[in-house]
Amino acid sequence: MQPSETNLHTADENHDLNEKDSSDGSSKSKLNIIIMAVGGVIIVGLLIALIIVAVKNNDNDDDDDDKENGGSNGDTNSGSTTSEDYVEPELFDWSEEYKKAQELIKDYTLEEKMLLIYSTENMQGKCVGSIDRNKGFPGMCLQDGPAGVRFSPSTTSWQAAINTAATFNRTLMYEVGAAQGKEFYDKGITIMLGPCVNYLRNPLGGRVWEGFGEDPFLTSEAGVQVIKGIQSQKVLACIKHFVGNEIEDPRHNSSSNIPEEALWEIYLEPFYKAVKKADVASVMESYNAVNDTFMTRNKRLLQEILKDKIGFKGFIMSDWWSINNDHYEHFANGCDMNMPGGPGWTPTPTGLEGSDWYKIPQWIQAGYFTEDRVNDAATRIVASMYRLGKIPDTITDDNSYPNNVNLDYDTKTEKNLELNRQAGRESIVLLKNNNNFLPIRNNKFQNHNFQSIAIIGNNAAFSNCATGNDVTCAPENGSQSVRYFTGYTALGWGSGTTSIIGHYCPLDAIKTTATNIGGITITESTGTTGDFFAGEEIEEVRTGLDAVCGSSQLALIFIGADSGEEYLIVENNVGDRNNLDPWHKGAELVNQVISDCPNSKKVLIVLGPATVNINQWIHNDNIDAILFGGMLGGRGGLAIVDILFGDFSPSGHLPYVWAPEESYPNVTKGELLTPSQRSEPYCVREYTYTENLYIGQRYVDKYKLPYDYPFGYGLSYSTFEYSDLNVKMEISGLTVEFKVKNTGRYEASVVPMVFLTFPIQNYPLKVFKGFDKKLLAIDEQASFTIVVEPHDLSYYDVSKASFVRPKTGNYIVYVSENARDDHLMTTVSAAY
Ligand code: BGC
Repeated sequence: MQPSETNLHTADENHDLNEKDSSDGSSKSKLNIIIMAVGGVIIVGLLIALIIVAVKNNDNDDDDDDKENGGSNGDTNSGSTTSEDYVEPELFDWSEEYKKAQELIKDYTLEEKMLLIYSTENMQGKCVGSIDRNKGFPGMCLQDGPAGVRFSPSTTSWQAAINTAATFNRTLMYEVGAAQGKEFYDKGITIMLGPCVNYLRNPLGGRVWEGFGEDPFLTSEAGVQVIKGIQSQKVLACIKHFVGNEIEDPRHNSSSNIPEEALWEIYLEPFYKAVKKADVASVMESYNAVNDTFMTRNKRLLQEILKDKIGFKGFIMSDWWSINNDHYEHFANGCDMNMPGGPGWTPTPTGLEGSDWYKIPQWIQAGYFTEDRVNDAATRIVASMYRLGKIPDTITDDNSYPNNVNLDYDTKTEKNLELNRQAGRESIVLLKNNNNFLPIRNNKFQNHNFQSIAIIGNNAAFSNCATGNDVTCAPENGSQSVRYFTGYTALGWGSGTTSIIGHYCPLDAIKTTATNIGGITITESTGTTGDFFAGEEIEEVRTGLDAVCGSSQLALIFIGADSGEEYLIVENNVGDRNNLDPWHKGAELVNQVISDCPNSKKVLIVLGPATVNINQWIHNDNIDAILFGGMLGGRGGLAIVDILFGDFSPSGHLPYVWAPEESYPNVTKGELLTPSQRSEPYCVREYTYTENLYIGQRYVDKYKLPYDYPFGYGLSYSTFEYSDLNVKMEISGLTVEFKVKNTGRYEASVVPMVFLTFPIQNYPLKVFKGFDKKLLAIDEQASFTIVVEPHDLSYYDVSKASFVRPKTGNYIVYVSENARDDHLMTTVSAAY
């Protein structure tokens, strides 16, 4: 059941939104204080009047489709914006690469061209998919991504992409992409199968950690930076999964039914920007159907929208098991490369008979399409290779597939491990910090001198499950179907993960740090020896508490959860999490520590893909602080130490709203279709994206649902003061200038965020449109300039089938520290 839709917020409600405490009690609106700081009471009056007028212009329930100029807008600017006013960003020029590609394949026979578009091995060779060497063409190795190189024994286990997003640091996102790209390049891999830009509609979604969270602007920006980084190393990036793959079970047999404006503004948006801003070389389709047509043959989305309208020049590949029936339409409708695994595919090393696509000559003969379609697909693939400098003048055994690939080549360099640690610590989100309890050393407010620290919970400990390729353990009897996870949750499971070899778990990192500092005794109850299935391991942790608590001034309690890809069932979770509770009786453990260890101070450290139910401890004074680590990858233990011990101030922010399960759209059940309702036999469930544009925080706001922490939330050890807001609207975009001063006692990074209220009706009240991150010394003041580009000032107008940039009315501009806590506010005319 969807909650009943409430009206768009009124001016009072809008004020209320800003005034309301987030439920942790620490995020009161600073609006009044800030306004006083920028100009006193008169300015307050003027500003509020302006905002009330502007919000009233937005406060209209009228279902009028024409969003702009829809009634109460008192602005005198004339003329409505039409789609003609919207100027599409320029496309990259691939004409040279297309010419070279056409030249290369002009003497290919039809069969030779077909070899370019069809993978001959399915994870039996060096790569998860490959294209054979051909005349003048070196072949291709396609390998997962996105957390690092899959199936390699010597690779960096990067933090999950959702952690990369939580850094809100564009430079770091690029650097991570570039460092990953270099690892793929150094191992001879042609294509990295990432980034993944599917959304967190609900944190239960099994692969949410592979993506960048809930927000279209953040997801697109992160995608752009990571792609640019990867491709800077002459490795083709593959943005996936196109499109609407927000749940795992059953991804192969379901349709994501997405309203048109949400399709454009949210789900297509990261692909749109990847094409327009990052020149991405390849796209992977998703398994699911969209609006009842499977993506593998969704002509509208593949051909008409992605290629024709958005202007994508590279090539589209299928997901691995997705070409699932014998049908010419997969190829005819826009998929350029058939990756292995579908029922029509058998693993023959060289021949074409492994793929349904061996029928291409017959399909041409039958008139379903012409050889031009084959030429187009082959040209796109070869042109992408030229674009990234992957086709040498002379092809030799050494520079072509498979000899050029060496997954054993060690790319786990100190530099990469250090970058993983940096990204990790910049992604850790401080959710609660009662009376500035953290950090536990170097604290400028508290005189902590802990000499005894207890480490509690299996999530702190080394994970002997992390050495396999999919980051899960099967029990010793070898049953692959009963898998479990113990120890430190560095990453989720499935194709998006890496072998986490030699990782630094929190237990080891804290022990090493304590030894280096000296004078600190560490005791532990992490239960690493018992039989997991008999519950012994968990019991061990709990029964060990007396011994560790009694003697410890501080208890660090680790709990977590995990999720992954659907083809592995882990502790009864078919990819998607069954619920948001901490795994392995984590909630009971925390409560037991509270009752058994009354004399210890307590910090809760939560690991996992996204939101975990911790609400009961947010207001519980027995827990002094809460850190959310997400999935930090191989160096996560060290990243946690960096924050806990106060060498760095936390600067990670939530890339999604943190709320109880009921406050997200329901993604787990979908609607089971009767056979007669199915658009085709395979499509057994339907997920209707009824929230439309109201994803995540917007959903919580619109329906006034409970939440714990808003989108963008994340505390610092320092404090910041915002001032001097200046905005300018021009044809080239909206420039937002302001200053931020570090007024606290720690050097710390600040992440100012820009939110906008659009001058249109029936639209999310406040949308995220800009961010920056800067490290500020104590007392340092920095100037920020954030430019919101024309595309980001636009909305998708379904009736015009185009993005439209409003020209009338006023935008409200907020400079905020998260979706709730606004520091500066003004309005600006949309006219340019
Ligand atoms: C996943 C893709 C992955 C591919 C190859 C599929 O099942 O959905 O993300 O790249 O397998 O491993």
